[in-house]
Amino acid sequence: MMSIDKTPCKWYPVCPMRRFYKKGLLDKYWIGHYCQGEWTHCVRYQMEAEGRYHPDWMLPDGTLAPALKKG
Ligand code: SF4
Repeated sequence: MMSIDKTPCKWYPVCPMRRFYKKGLLDKYWIGHYCQGEWTHCVRYQMEAEGRYHPDWMLPDGTLAPALKKG
């Protein structure tokens, strides 16, 4: 559920999930649930904070989605 009183993830402007979503390759669920919702639960966010490598095509829950590679 999206919440209007919550600050979105600070990485959203540069996150590949935003790019995939804009291209229609990614379901809005991911943006609403993580980027504009519980971004502290996002594995991408956590790995970024720890400086750990993660591919652009890894979903917020940590699932690798090779289909996104082309995006
Ligand atoms: S996918 Fe994760 S790191 Fe990227 S903008 Fe959304 S919450 Fe932030």
